[in-house]
Amino acid sequence: MAEVKHGTDKLIGEMEQHYGAKDKALALRAYEVAAAIHAGQKRLTGRDYVEHPVATATYLARIKMPIEIVVAALLHDTIEDTSRDPEEVRRELKEEFGAEVASLVERVTKLGRVQYRGVERYIENLRKMFLAMAEDVRVLFIKFADRIHNLQELDHVPEPKRRRIALESMELYAPIANRLGMGEMRGLLEDLSFKVVDPKEYEWVMELIKETLPRRQEALKDLLKTVKKDLESAGIEALSVHGRTKHLYSLYKKLLTHERDIDKIYDLVALRIIVPTVSDCYAALGVIHARYKPLKGRIKDYLAQPKPNGYQSLHTTVFAEGGHIFEIQIRTKEMHEAAEYGIAAHWLYDETGKKSRLPTSQVRWMRELAKIQKEIQDSKEFLEHLEQLKVDVFQNRIFVFTPKGDVIELPEHATPVDFAYSIHTEVGNHVTGARVNDEMAGLDRPLKSGDVVEIITDKNRKGPSADWLKSVKTHGARSKIRAQTKSKITDWIKAVMPGKMTKNSKRS
Ligand code: MN
Repeated sequence: MAEVKHGTDKLIGEMEQHYGAKDKALALRAYEVAAAIHAGQKRLTGRDYVEHPVATATYLARIKMPIEIVVAALLHDTIEDTSRDPEEVRRELKEEFGAEVASLVERVTKLGRVQYRGVERYIENLRKMFLAMAEDVRVLFIKFADRIHNLQELDHVPEPKRRRIALESMELYAPIANRLGMGEMRGLLEDLSFKVVDPKEYEWVMELIKETLPRRQEALKDLLKTVKKDLESAGIEALSVHGRTKHLYSLYKKLLTHERDIDKIYDLVALRIIVPTVSDCYAALGVIHARYKPLKGRIKDYLAQPKPNGYQSLHTTVFAEGGHIFEIQIRTKEMHEAAEYGIAAHWLYDETGKKSRLPTSQVRWMRELAKIQKEIQDSKEFLEHLEQLKVDVFQNRIFVFTPKGDVIELPEHATPVDFAYSIHTEVGNHVTGARVNDEMAGLDRPLKSGDVVEIITDKNRKGPSADWLKSVKTHGARSKIRAQTKSKITDWIKAVMPGKMTKNSKRS
């Protein structure tokens, strides 16, 4: 057996588990090229630099990312800060691994220059992340994996760089990972940064966990055994029944809203059940409720109503043996992978042509973003739109239904006009009224998740009203109304806000 070097044994392990022989050979070739380019270079840990791209690629291989992403990850630091001529490296990558890998490496390198420099540069950074994302979202997968490994070696990084990296991960990377539904990456980005961003609070949570976790894990074992048996006798095939521990930072945030009392947190450890189909999910929930009494108001059906970032699962909290209270999460394998890897999982299914039953909200969101990016070529104009875009992206999302039951994703407080425009521009331009849950509603009425919205149109209507700009919440509706009412718009602003040519005022 050849000598194991630079953590390649782990990479090879993942390659053998999830990829074919051709892909494995390609990855090893990329490793050799990276090792040659980084030869002599060291990490701050004192170890050979190439261990870093190997670790980055290994993470991506573990979550089964397509091979070109794994290969690009191995090569992601070869263009800059090596002793080689960048132009020569670019040529070599293209010749050896093709234009796609070369372009991914190029984009990751470009994004590497994005740095968090405090609040005043926040929007600027966000803009760069959005642009990178709209161009090729795969770049972000590599960037997140790269960042996770850098955070794992953060102890070796001197201040103030250490703090900058932690803040940047917490405030820039983690929210974007979350918006893309990438739960595992978000969790790692936050947990690894937490220690540096707020060491005192970090220590406090760690202490709490040390006191509480072993007890809860022990109690969970009994629950796990009983549930497994019950599912079996009910003839429900469980692909997996396992305990999961809450991410540190997300536990911390929850503690802050629960009087810092860990006894009020029922999902520090939770039981997770993975079953083949959606109907199995509901059947499993029935089996559990037949055995354990559920806590009132804690049964959550995120299957029928996914969370804003697309998360799907059934949650219930039950009184278990010995007075313990546990949360139980039930989902299918596809939903599980989507919850952990978000848009990455979805993207993978789409690319391999396998039909997935996942909600397409994230993918739709990406396309929206790409469209906006195309519309706004000039970056100065982009900055002006960014405030609105940021609101669109990070504000909570709601899910409303057409009368036929199609789901439309909108930002919180969106109106029937937003709804109409998200169906079709022509529907928006000719909307005259709306029925919400079978009752007539004003066009400025804020919608709620679960509302069924029927739009009434009149083809004789001359176009949108500039007045709608006061209540709409989506970028799409706003820009379409503006386009239609351009000539009238200046008059309108003068009329509603004399002397002020600024943004629309909020309505209560
Ligand atoms: Mn790197």
